[in-house]
Amino acid sequence: MPLTGIRCCAPKYAKSDIPHVVTKEQCLDCAASRTNTCEFTYEILNLMYGEVQDREDRISTTTLTSKCLRSEFLKRAEGYTESPRRLWPSFRGTQFHQQLEKAARPGSVAEARFHIDDFMGMGPLSGSPDLLDVEEGILYDYKTNKENPRFAYPWGDHSQQVNVNRYLVDHADWVEWQGKTYDPEQFRPKDWQALVLVYIDTNGPKPLEVTRSEDVSTKDGKGRKKVRVPDIWGDEHAQQWIAERYAAVKEAFVGGRLPEIPPEFQGWEHPLCGFCPKKHECIEDFYRENPVRTEKTYQIRRPA
Ligand code: SF4
Ligand code: SF4
Repeated sequence: MPLTGIRCCAPKYAKSDIPHVVTKEQCLDCAASRTNTCEFTYEILNLMYGEVQDREDRISTTTLTSKCLRSEFLKRAEGYTESPRRLWPSFRGTQFHQQLEKAARPGSVAEARFHIDDFMGMGPLSGSPDLLDVEEGILYDYKTNKENPRFAYPWGDHSQQVNVNRYLVDHADWVEWQGKTYDPEQFRPKDWQALVLVYIDTNGPKPLEVTRSEDVSTKDGKGRKKVRVPDIWGDEHAQQWIAERYAAVKEAFVGGRLPEIPPEFQGWEHPLCGFCPKKHECIEDFYRENPVRTEKTYQIRRPA
C-alpha cells in the first residue's frame, strides 16, 4: 500500500506523541492558503507528493537490498504515513536523478529498468541502475546524502545493490526505458570495468568504486603485495546472494509472514528505526509475538 496520509509538521504538533495525520489534499489546501505554519510552500509539497513512488508488489533490487525487510513489509501491507520533512531526502534524490536522465553521456543510458521474467524459478525480478555507460562498461549509482562517506569505499548495502544490478543487466529478458520496451542486448556492456557509487552532499560529489583487496606478485616476482581490484561478483555468487534474499522476501510478501527484526536493529536503537514510519507497529507486533519479553529487558520507550 502507498503513502496513506501526511503527518503534519506544523510547530504546534512538534511535541505531541500522537501524530496529526491529514490527507495529501488537505495538506495541499492548507499550503495553498499561504498561511500554513510549517516551512513548506504549496509548490514544494505539490511536487513532492506527485513523486512519491509506490513500489506496488514487484520485487526489485531495492527490495532485496533493503536494510530492514520488516519495515518494507509493514509499509506495503498496511500503508504508512509520513511527514514532509521525512519525505524531503528522497524527494531531493529524485530531483537529482531526473536531471541525470537529461544529461547522460552518449553511449550511456539512465534509469532503464531491467526485467528478468523468472529468476531461478522463484518469480520476476527487476532493477533500475541510475546510469549505465554501455560503451565503457561502468555502472553508476548516485546517492544524495547529508554527508559523504569519509572512508574510501562505498557502504556495504550499496555495493550489493550495484552488483545485483550488474547481474540484472547481463541476464535481463527485456528492458523498459522511457516508456518503451527494448531488447536487452543493446544495453549490455561487452566488458565490465567498474561499479561506482557517486555520493553527493552539499560540498560536491565523491565517486567510490566497489573494490576488494587482492594479493598479487610484485613486478620483480620476488614478493607479494596488496592491491585494490574491481569487486564485480561472478554470476554464481550473485545468483546465490539474490536467491537467499529472494526467498526471504517471498516468504514475507507472498507468504504473508512478518519478517523478524534484523539483529542489528534489536532494541530499536538503529538510526533507521528513528526514521521508520512503521516503528510503532513494529514494536506492537514484537510484543504481541513475544509476550514474555518485557519492555525492561529491551530498555525501550514504547510510543503512546
Ligand atoms: S501544509 Fe504544513 S502545516 Fe499545513 S497540513 Fe501540510 S504539513 Fe501541516
Ligand atoms: S522500527 Fe526498525 S526494526 Fe522495526 S520495522 Fe522499522 S526499521 Fe525495522
